[in-house]
Amino acid sequence: MTDCIFCKIVAGGIPAKKAYEDEWVFAFHDIHPLRPTHVLVIPKKHIPSLAHVGPEDEPVLGRMLSVAQKLAAENGSGDGFRCIINTGRIGGQEVPHLHLHILGGPEPVGPMVTKLKENA
Ligand code: 5GP
Ligand code: ZN
Repeated sequence: MTDCIFCKIVAGGIPAKKAYEDEWVFAFHDIHPLRPTHVLVIPKKHIPSLAHVGPEDEPVLGRMLSVAQKLAAENGSGDGFRCIINTGRIGGQEVPHLHLHILGGPEPVGPMVTKLKENA
């Protein structure tokens, strides 16, 4: 049995508020939402991060993006949203199973990232 929490969510071993599912991807609401809309889209296949994808993953990567706009619209972000894929230590990735954050709501999401002090 895998130790990956997102694989466990796909398998139903850990409860999550499901937003979408098809043969390739699974989507669910983030347990600690940062905006009124905060949905995670993941491949059903365990891929540790965006640094681990290959050409064979292009179909599932495309599916993740194509379902993002549908999920955003269905979850209160029809006027726009932001997609984020944190990758590795530098990217601030906490869960080592590739996931796309969809962030939105009625108000602008805000600055993309804060400036580094030396560049301010
Ligand atoms: P990361 O920092 O890796 O890009 O984002 C991981 C996200 O997964 C965080 O926003 C965190 O709140 C969310 N998360 C972690 N564990 C769980 C969980 O068990 N259930 C759900 N629904 N979200 C989770
Ligand atoms: Zn996994």
